Amino acid sequence: MPVPLAPYPTPPAPYTPPANGAQSQLVCSGCRNLLLYPVGANSVCCAVCNAVTAVPPPGTEMAQLVCGGCHTLLMYIRGATSVQCSCCHTVNLALEANQVAHVNCGNCRMLLMYQYGARSVKCAVCNFVTSVGASASATEQKFNN
Ligand SMILES: [Zn+2]
Ligand SMILES: [Zn+2]
Ligand SMILES: [Zn+2]
Repeated sequence: MPVPLAPYPTPPAPYTPPANGAQSQLVCSGCRNLLLYPVGANSVCCAVCNAVTAVPPPGTEMAQLVCGGCHTLLMYIRGATSVQCSCCHTVNLALEANQVAHVNCGNCRMLLMYQYGARSVKCAVCNFVTSVGASASATEQKFNN
C-alpha cells in the first residue's frame, strides 16, 4: 500500500528574514570606509565618522574597483568607463569583463566596438587591425594637487 500524502506538506518558508546575504555595501562619503547596510535602506550612517551616505536608488548597479593611485575602494555605477578617485584624483579605468568599448578604426575611422580586454580590433570594413591594448595612457594622467 502506498502511503498517502500528508494533507499539509511542509510549506516552504513564506518569509525569510534578511539575515544572510541581504546586505549591500557602499563607501562612506566621509571617511571612505566600506559600509555594510541592509538592502532597502535609503541612507547609511557611518559608525566611524557619522557621515550619512545616500544609498544609490535601486536598480542602479554599483561596481567597485580599487584606486590605482591610493588603493582606496571606489564605487561607481556599472557601465561607467572610468572612475575618478575623490581622494587622489587618479582616473581609473573601469574594466568590466562584459563591457563594450568603442574605438575608431585606425585606417578608415569607422567606429568599432570591442570588448574590454581585447588587445586589438579588426575592422569589418577594411580589415585593418587597430590596437587598443595600450590606449590607456590618455586616462592615466594624474592631476597634481
Ligand atoms: Zn565614515
Ligand atoms: Zn585614489
Ligand atoms: Zn576600417
